[in-house]
Amino acid sequence: MVSSFRLYIGGKWANSRSGETFSSLNPATGKPIASFQKAGEDDVNRAVDVAGKAQKKWKDVPAPKRGEILLRFAYLLKQHKEELAQTVTLEMGKVLTEARGDVQEAIDTAEYFAGEGRRLFGHTTPSELRNKFAMTIRMPVGVFGIITPWNFPIAIPAWKIMPALVCGNAVVFKPASDTPLCATKFVELLIKAGVPSGVVNLVTGPGDPTGTAIVKHKGVRGISFTGNRETGESILKNAGLKKVGLELGGKNGIIIMPDAPLELALDGVIWGGFGTTGQRCTAASRVIVDEKIRGKFERIFVDRAKRLRLGPGINPKTDVGPLINKAAVDKARRYTQIGLEEGAKLLCGGKPHGKAGFFYQPTVFTDVAPDMKIAQEEIFGPVVSIISVKNIDEAIDAMNSVRYGLSSSIYTRDINAAFRAIHEIEAGITYVNAPTIGAEVHLPFGGVKETGIGTREAGIEGINEFSETKTVYIDYSGRLQRAQIDAD
Ligand code: NAP
Repeated sequence: MVSSFRLYIGGKWANSRSGETFSSLNPATGKPIASFQKAGEDDVNRAVDVAGKAQKKWKDVPAPKRGEILLRFAYLLKQHKEELAQTVTLEMGKVLTEARGDVQEAIDTAEYFAGEGRRLFGHTTPSELRNKFAMTIRMPVGVFGIITPWNFPIAIPAWKIMPALVCGNAVVFKPASDTPLCATKFVELLIKAGVPSGVVNLVTGPGDPTGTAIVKHKGVRGISFTGNRETGESILKNAGLKKVGLELGGKNGIIIMPDAPLELALDGVIWGGFGTTGQRCTAASRVIVDEKIRGKFERIFVDRAKRLRLGPGINPKTDVGPLINKAAVDKARRYTQIGLEEGAKLLCGGKPHGKAGFFYQPTVFTDVAPDMKIAQEEIFGPVVSIISVKNIDEAIDAMNSVRYGLSSSIYTRDINAAFRAIHEIEAGITYVNAPTIGAEVHLPFGGVKETGIGTREAGIEGINEFSETKTVYIDYSGRLQRAQIDAD
């Protein structure tokens, strides 16, 4: 018998109206770890209703006081860091050192946005008229639907829920069905931190109907979504005239120039390609390497990829954990087949691994043309494509040839090449001499092109997604002054 967990609505733990449940699995074994409620439309309606009422009071709590709750949450996360990290490894599969990083990112985010409670800056600017004052202030949006993926089951909810709360919104949170235990633990700590009843509500259940019901609900004023491109598109269609933030997929690349510090670049490609088993939106699934060093790079890279140790994330000797579920293994296998059919050369991996759990070998293809499917589509697994180029122009063209634009990187000692990459790569993030992964929470995070619709999370820009700007004019002249008409 596995433990069972409930929805959290209006300050109470409750079963779903239908009584239906689902299980989450340990991806290292394929066995169930706990059971959860499947929230239907009724449950979502209830959650949105109580969130709407609670938000009216929450928005009047002074922002610095809202920030204090976030700070308490950060302390609690620190206290429970190890236990939470173990839960992340158990339910999502990533190796324990990375799971600790996942929790640490939430701690950093909570601390950062706690401070925002004492800022939430607007602008002041001179008026064109005399004795008139002009400024902007930030307003909450209302009830936010927060819909998250499983790959950062603690950090991504924090990226969204921390700024949402500090800005005075209430939230209805639907986590991925693969990681509801992490979400439940996250919400338990928020309750302990003192979030008032109804301000945070947890509804577990499938994308459809649970997620769809949130997205379509008229009482929800904003949606913050992270997930794949196709789901993002459907959310945009269903949301109507809501404020929508979408953080979608990536097909990120690392350029390696002939003058690159090769050992450093290899460390970056191994970490960027196979860290989190390639299941990061910023994973480096393409390596764009100058033909002059391709042979040497390929030899060492493949040798290192073959030596990576696959296993359960809880084992300290493991380098690469399992994929999230069977569908992810099937997808990696399908793309391996596509790569072979397209004429790419498989250098290593290409097969599931082990008898239990959802493991896939670190896989490297070479002779990949930039327009092949394996170089264009997000596989979200440990599959790296090597693309050989003649010079920086070809490298940047290859980098920009995809529909996504999240993260990118160049390894070079040539300052001109580095600046060309910074200016010409179409991506929300460019690293120089570091891999495509490694976001810090006080800098904006997000992408261009089909990676999203221009919102940025984290950092000061993270506040924009969760607040509305109000423009305020105060005329203390005592007479009617007409903008653009009265000169003096
Ligand atoms: P997904 O299938 O789109 O799922 C994400 C969330 O959306 C889950 O909670 C899912 O619920 C829910 N959902 C599914 N269908 C829905 C619908 N019709 N309406 C409302 N909600 C719905 O994404 P994923 O495959 O789990 O996650 C991996 C993707 O996330 C990759 O593409 C990755 O690049 C992207 N990602 C992007 C970023 C970024 O910041 N740009 C960060 C991390 C991940 P269920 O789990 O119940 O299906």
